[in-house]
Amino acid sequence: MASLRGNWNYPTAVRFGPGRIAELPDACKSLNMKRPLLVTDAALAKLPMIDNAVAACKAAGLECEVFSDVQANPVESNVTNGVNAYRSGSHDGVIAFGGGSALDTGKAVALMVGQTRPIWDFEDREDWFTRVNVSGMAPTVAVPTTSGTGSEVGRASVITDVRDHTKKIIFHPKMLPSIVIADPELTLGLPAKVTAAVGMDALSHNLEAYCSPSYHPLAEGIALEGMRLVHDYLATAVRDGSDIEARSQMMAASLMGATAFQKGLGAMHSLSHPCSANLNTHHGLTNAVVMPYVLSWNRPALTAKMQRLAAYLNLPQQSFNGVLDWILELRNTIGVPDTLSELGVTSEHAQAFAQQAFDDPSTGGNPIPVTVADFAQLYRNCIEGKLNTV
Ligand SMILES: [Zn+2]
Repeated sequence: MASLRGNWNYPTAVRFGPGRIAELPDACKSLNMKRPLLVTDAALAKLPMIDNAVAACKAAGLECEVFSDVQANPVESNVTNGVNAYRSGSHDGVIAFGGGSALDTGKAVALMVGQTRPIWDFEDREDWFTRVNVSGMAPTVAVPTTSGTGSEVGRASVITDVRDHTKKIIFHPKMLPSIVIADPELTLGLPAKVTAAVGMDALSHNLEAYCSPSYHPLAEGIALEGMRLVHDYLATAVRDGSDIEARSQMMAASLMGATAFQKGLGAMHSLSHPCSANLNTHHGLTNAVVMPYVLSWNRPALTAKMQRLAAYLNLPQQSFNGVLDWILELRNTIGVPDTLSELGVTSEHAQAFAQQAFDDPSTGGNPIPVTVADFAQLYRNCIEGKLNTV
């Protein structure tokens, strides 16, 4: 195995490789932090990796404290409480440490410590990001502990608005963390089920970015290679969680997915977000369930692209069906349910969620336009297990 280690400056400074977590204090110091606030979730806060990170920072002279009031599918109060902790502890930087929920909350705290407006004023609409007081933002080091969200290289946080149960995207270009420590050893303890779900999130990012019709050849190239890594390594990472090569390649695939989806996402994320916002379903798992239904829905626009993808992945059948078969087989191998009904989504939900899916910012990136009625049909397909086949 070649050394799976690198220092990349693309799309931000990434220190990639097993054991690189040892560089956390140095990364904080290089951003002039003296009192970093480590933002993580409550479950992770109980694990030795957080104690070790805090101890390493303290040994290096950094007054590091932990904030862990972060729930899955984080809400505004998680961010507000984090901002209060940051201010009352006189912190000067954020370490966002964990899976997507912790990373998104940490990034949102780093944004909001410098603002006077409410967080919803910075939703990713029109030019709302220009409202941000950039000079007040805190520097951020991101440390992912799952391989899927890619939020460590993203410029946004997804926060649930409990007033209307929608997931909103809070965006500013400078929310991209200044330094990422991508240490695959931190993912060795992830249970197989979580590895599968987050890995499918990485696939959905690469796949939706690849399928999105906007012109962005850089992102498209990244997405193709990201999908190859998922193809070659996800099943292994799920089967043998201690395989550091598979863990490393999946961490790279995750970074690549979030780098690529600047190009756009699509109806997989549009369908998934209302399920998580209303029923608290796992984001990656929900994407994994809806993936083949959306892909087959979009089939008319994807013939040539799926041939190229199938050829790159060296699939037995180099066609749309070859890709669809691969995804169905992968889902089956790693234990993803077939239908949304297995996640508790019913036909009554489908009606209510269709409008929310239509309004989701991901909808604009879908390769073919999708109406509210289309989304209702798509939900029914996902609930009943009906693939559009030609
Ligand atoms: Zn996602």
